[in-house]
Amino acid sequence: MSDPSHTITDEFQCTVKENDCFNKNILEQLAKLQEAAAKVNKSIIRACTYCGCIEINANNKLYSYHDDINLDMIKLLDPHHISGELCDACRDRIEKDMGSCLYYLACISNSFDLNLDDVLLKEMDIIHLLGKFHIE
Ligand SMILES: [Zn+2]
Repeated sequence: MSDPSHTITDEFQCTVKENDCFNKNILEQLAKLQEAAAKVNKSIIRACTYCGCIEINANNKLYSYHDDINLDMIKLLDPHHISGELCDACRDRIEKDMGSCLYYLACISNSFDLNLDDVLLKEMDIIHLLGKFHIE
């Protein structure tokens, strides 16, 4: 039975550390993370353009027509710019690419002795603190 004080994030980071023999170079880790993030983008675009299981309406006219619009209004007016639903193949591909991102993020965290769980908790605190203003 696993230690209840360890989260799935801890377990994941530990598993990456124990099994990663090839990605010890920080420059390689940075390059691989960027490559994995690009694959997430590519897979989402592929779902729209090649597979067609989703459609993306990137039109933002709704926002630009209302100069006095505030964030609460944007939430109400959200036009759900993604329509359709990911098919199983696209969902699997995107999940795999996101998993690769997490893998290389764990590698980088291990290189600097950072704890991914702490990173998540700190980010969650920032989201709670800044709420709707947490936009970069
Ligand atoms: Zn699809």
